[in-house]
Formats: sequence, C-alpha cells, structure tokens
Amino acid sequence: MNDYMALDNANDDNKDDGISPFLTISLADQLLPTTDKEEEEVKEEDTNSMKGHTSSYLELQLPDMSSVSHISDQYYEQLVSSHSKQGTSTCSNLNCKHHPDGPLYLCSTCFGNKPYCQHCIKEQHQSLPFHRILVWDDTCCCYISANWTDLNMAWTLVHKDGKQCTSEGRVRRLQVLHVNGMHILPYHVCNCFIGGEKRASASPLQLLANNLFPATSLSPTSSFSFEVMELFDSLNLNGFINIKQFCDSLIELTPRDMLYNDEV
Ligand SMILES: [Zn+2]
Ligand SMILES: [Zn+2]
Ligand SMILES: [Zn+2]
Repeated sequence: MNDYMALDNANDDNKDDGISPFLTISLADQLLPTTDKEEEEVKEEDTNSMKGHTSSYLELQLPDMSSVSHISDQYYEQLVSSHSKQGTSTCSNLNCKHHPDGPLYLCSTCFGNKPYCQHCIKEQHQSLPFHRILVWDDTCCCYISANWTDLNMAWTLVHKDGKQCTSEGRVRRLQVLHVNGMHILPYHVCNCFIGGEKRASASPLQLLANNLFPATSLSPTSSFSFEVMELFDSLNLNGFINIKQFCDSLIELTPRDMLYNDEV
C-alpha cells in the first residue's frame, strides 16, 4: 500500500469515530512501514488509547470559569495598583532627608518597584545606565518615563586601559541598543590626551573598554551593548531570528516618548 492510499483509508475508517484528520495523519505516518495486518492492529490499538487520553485530557484542561473570573479580578486590581502611587507620597528610603515634596521616581527594571525621591533614585543608579526609570506625573496621574538627561546624570567612561576617566569633559549623548530597547546615554567626553589626540567624542576603543560595540569606527554616536549582541547571537542560532526581527522587537520595547523626542 502506498503512502497516499494508507492515508486515504485511515481517513475513511476514522470519519465515524470523530477523530481529527491531524490525528489520522499522525497515525498513518506510524503505520506506513508496517504490513496491512499489522497496520489494522496498530491502528485499532492507537485509536482506542487516543480516545481514552482525549477525554481525560479535555477534562483536565477545562477550567472552572467562575474561579477564573474571580482570580482575574484580583490580578487586575493588583496590576493596576502597581501603576499608582501605592498609598505613599514619600521616598521609600527611611533615612532620606532629600526632596520630601519633590516628584517620586521608581525603576521598572529594579526588583521591588518602590518609589524614591530624585536624590535616592540617582544614587541607586549611578552604575545602572540601562534601567528604565519612571517619574510620577501629577497631570497624567501616572508614571511616565524619565531618562538620564531628565535626571541631569552623565556616564563617566573608563579609558582603554580600564582606568576611570576623571577629566569630566562636556556632555555628549550616545545611542545604545541594549536588551531592553534603545537608550540615549549622556556621557562625559574624555578630555585626556590619548595617543596624542584630543577627541570630540568617545573613541571606538574607549567604547569597547566600556563593553559597548561602536556602530562605526569614526566618532561613533551609536553603539551596541555586549549583552544585546550575545542575545542576538543566541536567538539567531537557536530561534532563527533575523536581524530585522530582532531590531524591530527592541524598538517595540523602547518607550515611545524617547523614540520620538530624543535625538543624538
Ligand atoms: Zn533600577
Ligand atoms: Zn530619598
Ligand atoms: Zn579621560
């Protein structure tokens, strides 16, 4: 019996049994290498076992809709409350004596989601330039995104040899693609003389020393974090995600106001 005949017969035999055509194809695939007699025996055995599994499987999968509705109401309330001021109007740092009446900030990347004053949130994020910080907006009555420029913060790069730059030159902005989307990172241009040349922006080698891969070899204004490159490598090799799909996904993760308002 050829492949198509086996498939046709299997379909005909199972029409009255109410078995899905996909299930029949799967059974036919298993039966093809066997003889006609063995084929009938295996088909009958598999069909019976599938019937038993199908009914118990459906029983397990069908949820109790009244409990689903109750649970979803509870979850919704909790999720919405995480976007509110959470009943507090002061900094979560108990020892804080700064900005008692200022706006509250929270970080959606840090675990805990606690609100802090501007001083405390800046202190916590001096070494975390790719965290998503939010600020409470009284007009919108919700948290909106706040970046390092809003907080008057600037990154200090290390030199090629790994030593911290202390010159604190004028602030320039660097576009960085990270695992949670695009960032505009203000940084102090290094005013030290490196190789006899004073640069107007970070050099490609200096970016590499800071775990950022430069997008160009001449005065780069865009770069990729090493983490995002590792993520693409893994998704490309294991999930066949191409570079456009990957970049589109990261743009989706970038706050809309940053995409349209910030230019390097
Ligand atoms: Zn954070
Ligand atoms: Zn504080
Ligand atoms: Zn320097």
